[in-house]
Amino acid sequence: MPFAITQTCCTDASCVAACPVNCIHPTPDEPDFGTTDMLFVDPRTCIDCGACADACPVDAVFPAETLSGPYPEINAAYYADEPLAPVSGPTFHRWGQPAFDRVLPAGFPVLDVAVVGTGPAGMYAVQDLLLHTPARVTVYDRLTEPGGLIRFGVAPDHPSTKKIGEAFARHHGHERVRMRLGVEVGRDVTVEDLAARHDAVIYAVGASESRSLGIPGEERTLPGPTVVGWYNGHPEVPAGAVDLSGERAVVVGNGNVALDIARILTTDPADLADTSIPRAVQERLRTGSVREVVLLARRGPESAAYTRSELLAVTSSLVVDDADPRVGKTIDSAAPGEHAALLQGVRRERIDWSAPVGVERRIVLRFHSAPEEVTESAVRTADADIPTGLVVRAIGHRGRPLPGLPFADGIVPNEKGRVSPGTYVVGWIKRGSTGGIGANRTDAAETVGALIADATAGTLAPRRRGSLLRRSLLRR
Ligand code: NAP
Repeated sequence: MPFAITQTCCTDASCVAACPVNCIHPTPDEPDFGTTDMLFVDPRTCIDCGACADACPVDAVFPAETLSGPYPEINAAYYADEPLAPVSGPTFHRWGQPAFDRVLPAGFPVLDVAVVGTGPAGMYAVQDLLLHTPARVTVYDRLTEPGGLIRFGVAPDHPSTKKIGEAFARHHGHERVRMRLGVEVGRDVTVEDLAARHDAVIYAVGASESRSLGIPGEERTLPGPTVVGWYNGHPEVPAGAVDLSGERAVVVGNGNVALDIARILTTDPADLADTSIPRAVQERLRTGSVREVVLLARRGPESAAYTRSELLAVTSSLVVDDADPRVGKTIDSAAPGEHAALLQGVRRERIDWSAPVGVERRIVLRFHSAPEEVTESAVRTADADIPTGLVVRAIGHRGRPLPGLPFADGIVPNEKGRVSPGTYVVGWIKRGSTGGIGANRTDAAETVGALIADATAGTLAPRRRGSLLRRSLLRR
């Protein structure tokens, strides 16, 4: 009986490397890898060895026979149009040529590298450095608790996804790693300090700012990262940061962050009791009044930003607002496999926004509906005023400029991770706020590859020991 990959897949491809018969795709060197939400086991060639399940850092792989949901079918469907080619060996997928592109020449001096940020991008970079080089790595984070978005971003009702933090935490104690927590670049040390102290610095500082809507009343909205930080117990977000006194909340955007927020706000608080949600937040959810969350999307269901696996996690509480006739048509005419087809079978309703919010907890998907203004008591759209006291903008993120580094369009401009020889970026500050956790693995490999190429070419500036860093740390 084959194995199948399920909802929590982080696409970091640990399973691909472990599979002895190359039956998990897309692999990092296949074109679909950059866009897929999850990886898939080919049931025709899986030999049932379970190596993928052992290697998976987020508990996403199970024997298909033990699963009752749609995932065995979803895995198989990926291969539906893929004929079994007449090649020798147990699989039809050919292995590519192995590439050994991240190797320092024998006898190369040990590098001293700084990684700024302990989220997934930073920790995949640390892992890559430890695996491919003898480098010593100093890891900085402005917070005293490591983990970045694994700790303070992944929703607390996704414990399997959070488990990848355990794999990263093993590197914290590695003999070649030094952790420097509670040290903020720009406040406690400067970019110049770090450049002087280390042979190379990799910035994995993420994209912590919410994009803005540019509409009247925007100041009344809460940034998505604030709400995400709130339910994750971020030290800078108080338990009272989110007002749950109204019965309806509106979230602008329909990406996975919007869906995470909607799911947490509409789940029965009793079902969240065993999660890592802080007690004070659980209590606010228990005593709060929110029962309906409306996700406002400016485009149609064919362009929805949520992924299939995140949508499948909430289908029982979903309703599609039927006000715009294009919505139903697009859903009904979608071919299997098309994004809009995910909503086939989901209840549709013409919603009367002047009626009281129902008793049932639910998430309403409203398409072709951009907010035009946020007033004290409603979100104004082209065809309706939606009464609400809580408006969240989950419309993507931007990086925060770091003095001493270039900055444009919400990221640090770079070429394959290289800002300049000796200075590198990885993760959302490198590529913008797209991609889940696993996308950072190949991203980190590219950045570390650029670093190694510069070291080998001799273009890294010599470091100045006894540096400014120590003096500036002493100033704290
Ligand atoms: P996102 O996926 O980029 O979604 C942003 C949403 O905001 C889109 O619906 C977008 O609509 C909308 N939007 C942007 N500007 C807007 C505007 N001015 N007015 C109205 N709507 C606007 O961002 P995200 O949800 O923050 O997620 C970021 C990344 O993290 C994604 O790759 C996501 O998959 C990943 N993530 C994954 C998980 C998970 O796997 N469980 C959880 C959280 C996040 P348009 O499409 O029309 O631009």
